[in-house]
Amino acid sequence: MTSRFPIPTLTEGSDGLQLEDVALTAIATQHGTPVYVYSRRALTEAFSAYREALAGRRGLVCYAVKANSNLGVLSVFAQLGAGFDIVSGGELARVLAAGGDAGKVVFSGVGKSRDEMRQALKAGIRCFNVESEAEIDRLNEVAGELGKVAPIAFRVNPDVDPKTHPYISTGLKSNKFGVAIDAAADLYRRAAGLPNLRVSGVACHIGSQLLDPAPIAEAAGKILDLVDRLAAEGITLDHIDLGGGLGIRYRDEQPPTVAEYLAPLLKLFEGRKEELCFEPGRSLVGNAGLLLTRIEYLKPGEEKSFAIVDAAMNDLARPALYDAYHEVVAVQPRTGAAKTYEVVGPICESGDFLAHDRELAVAEGDLVALLSAGAYGMAMSSNYNTRPRVAEVMVDGDRMHLIRRRETVESLYALESPLT
Ligand SMILES: *Cc1c(COP(=O)(O)O)cnc(C)c1O
Repeated sequence: MTSRFPIPTLTEGSDGLQLEDVALTAIATQHGTPVYVYSRRALTEAFSAYREALAGRRGLVCYAVKANSNLGVLSVFAQLGAGFDIVSGGELARVLAAGGDAGKVVFSGVGKSRDEMRQALKAGIRCFNVESEAEIDRLNEVAGELGKVAPIAFRVNPDVDPKTHPYISTGLKSNKFGVAIDAAADLYRRAAGLPNLRVSGVACHIGSQLLDPAPIAEAAGKILDLVDRLAAEGITLDHIDLGGGLGIRYRDEQPPTVAEYLAPLLKLFEGRKEELCFEPGRSLVGNAGLLLTRIEYLKPGEEKSFAIVDAAMNDLARPALYDAYHEVVAVQPRTGAAKTYEVVGPICESGDFLAHDRELAVAEGDLVALLSAGAYGMAMSSNYNTRPRVAEVMVDGDRMHLIRRRETVESLYALESPLT
């Protein structure tokens, strides 16, 4: 079954759009709107693409939890044997609650607190991806206090040329992430001398929504040079982590397939014994999810007409934050002329838009779906305007599972107190 939508398991059924075998209208009836809806099959297929591409060599796929941290989503990956890339102690707790294996967790982030280090050491995570010199001293100290040895990788900054590869945003010398690759050898020598650390690997993550496999291959080449120089001094690394970043189709982008993205890397690593790790986020969940919302009002205007929907920038922040594009489709398209709409939410900000200039044949009360919303959608949502976070549903074949209840208004101020 192929879909004309970026979401592979979204098709047109007899009752309008359906995800796998469940009509979106049925989900709205059962759970209300707005609601995030994910497809278990799409998650599984996306993960399997990585696993198949890595078949026959030592490899580990660590899902980047920050893209979508719902326990239902994490449990699907845990059951598939995934590892996890976390950036906080909170994410570690989620992984464990979802049945994830601490032994396959890598911990990234520039600002790990002592508490987070302790929590991760006690859980027995796979590796700390260290981002500064100060962090190795702190980690060595905390591990010593617990009588543990912390496995580490330095996150290096390969400084891949931004002019040839404009999508890169985190692998440049000028940003806060990682350590300069030229300084890495010295740091490895220092770390190897610290009693409570075990040098385990090297990591990088050069950016997000990458549509070209060339920059990561270039970065990998620089990293292999470093690994070989360190080996010559007796510092051997057992894994190489090339981060996440593979892009997805939102509109008309043509990202490489996972196999195409990994092919130059697999060639580069042919015959090498290190375990090859990846930390994909967006490419595992982005096109496994959509945001289902209902049109509250149609408001014709002289210059622009507005479709005011019940979802807003607090539910899906990417359009307001990055001017990101999400396809908008009517769940049950009407016959008759389509009109051009600004799709906006009810929030009191002009920045509260979800989509510009979309041709839609719709009426008040109709359902529309914002596609490709599985990554950095719910995860970046907020309660701005005292709007309860929406429900999340996972579709699995012909079944739907509520994986997060809609928040209540009372819960939003339950931790607050009026002055008496
Ligand atoms: C955000 C992040 C990822 C995931 O990036 P995607 O673009 O969603 O694949 C992986 N690793 C690290 C360190 C990150 O910060």
